[in-house]
Amino acid sequence: MKEFDVIIVGGGLVGASLALALSGSRHRVALLEAAAPPSGAPSWDERCIALNAASQAIFSALGAWEELAPAAEPIRSTHISERGRFGVARFTAEEAGLPALGYNIPVRQLGTVLWRRAQGTNTTLLCPTRLSRLQLQGDGVELELEGGERLSAKLVVAADGAHSAVRTMLGIGHDSRDYEQSAIVTAVRVSRPHQGCAYERFTPDGPIALLPKPDGACSLVWTVPARQVDGMLACSDEAFLAQAQDTFGERLGRFVTLGRRNAHPLSRVMSERLTVPRVLFAGNAAQSLHPVAAQGFNLGLRDVAAVAEALEAAVDPGAAALLRDYEAARQADRERVSQFTDRLVRSFSNRLPGFSALRHLGLLALDLTPPLKQAVMWQNLGYGHAPRMAREGQP
Ligand SMILES: Cc1cc2nc3c(=O)[nH]c(=O)nc-3n(C[C@H](O)[C@H](O)[C@H](O)COP(=O)(O)OP(=O)(O)OC[C@H]3O[C@@H](n4cnc5c(N)ncnc54)[C@H](O)[C@@H]3O)c2cc1C
Repeated sequence: MKEFDVIIVGGGLVGASLALALSGSRHRVALLEAAAPPSGAPSWDERCIALNAASQAIFSALGAWEELAPAAEPIRSTHISERGRFGVARFTAEEAGLPALGYNIPVRQLGTVLWRRAQGTNTTLLCPTRLSRLQLQGDGVELELEGGERLSAKLVVAADGAHSAVRTMLGIGHDSRDYEQSAIVTAVRVSRPHQGCAYERFTPDGPIALLPKPDGACSLVWTVPARQVDGMLACSDEAFLAQAQDTFGERLGRFVTLGRRNAHPLSRVMSERLTVPRVLFAGNAAQSLHPVAAQGFNLGLRDVAAVAEALEAAVDPGAAALLRDYEAARQADRERVSQFTDRLVRSFSNRLPGFSALRHLGLLALDLTPPLKQAVMWQNLGYGHAPRMAREGQP
């Protein structure tokens, strides 16, 4: 049986970030991933991901930002509006006292850099291989891989996604809500320069977001009712572009060309536990959110920073006190972000006229009330309840 101090199950963006964060630590670490990177893992699709300022600070602290920066487009402002209403809320990097509110980066590039960096360290990479069995022992965990190989660890970090196998093997429940929506993700070329602005426009069917890409194009994330998805994937590029243009409007000029379309069904999955003896949950395995506020990975990366900080001085990485501290450190951030995201989805998809007027007032208030604006901006930058690593560079 191979012995490790920490075994990370799942090498998606969160597991790979944690492997990087723990490389060079005193602990013997293994990373277990079912898919063969760089092409196979579910995280490594054609999407872009909006990293907030706290995530950028974490990647800087991990020494990876320099390599990521050329692939990332700075988001210098955001513009939030509702279709059919005049009110808008705007946030700028200048107001926040930062060079950028965040950075939009292709997932594939982010994943490739994380794995390449993890490969050059003392972390043992077990990939592609799948966890098939896991058993808690008094002072550790025994794991079995698909081929029958057995491993042991003092701590298991479950970073195996929304449908976490570790969670199922341990019989831990989850709370799940199907939004009956899918996000269609693609890229569009537009006729006006994006100038680093990220747009989100709410409609009763779901938000449409355009985020600036480094190549001058925009990544498009369009949330639509599940029943419309097949038709929107099957229609011609011209028909899709015309529909997207009609929903988004003319702020970026004409929609000219379209990239490949992919659909992601949307649900919220919250694990009932963040820890059990010798195991902790991080990233989507702990909480998987609707992408409306672009917070899922940002939140998961703060889980990573919290685990890395907790393990820094630990003799026994699976000690009960360490798990208690992790849970205490992450609970408030997790609840705040997941509730904010869920409320946003439900409030903007409510078609009652009274609700629509309230939303309108809400957007106006957000733009016109500096303390409220500051509070929302701070939360979206990732600084509320953030681990130490995330606060470096905070103005
Ligand atoms: C349309 C869309 C847009 C988004 N945009 C943003 C954004 O702009 N900003 C943001 O912060 N977040 C965003 N998110 C959320 C973000 O994508 C996720 O939070 C993040 O990718 C989760 O990463 P993860 O590593 O926790 O999970 P996953 O990506 O699901 O990775 C889990 C890994 O575990 C592996 N695995 C599973 N089971 C096993 C097993 N038994 N053995 C071994 N390995 C296993 C899988 O192969 C996989 O690689 C978006 C999500 C969507 C759907």
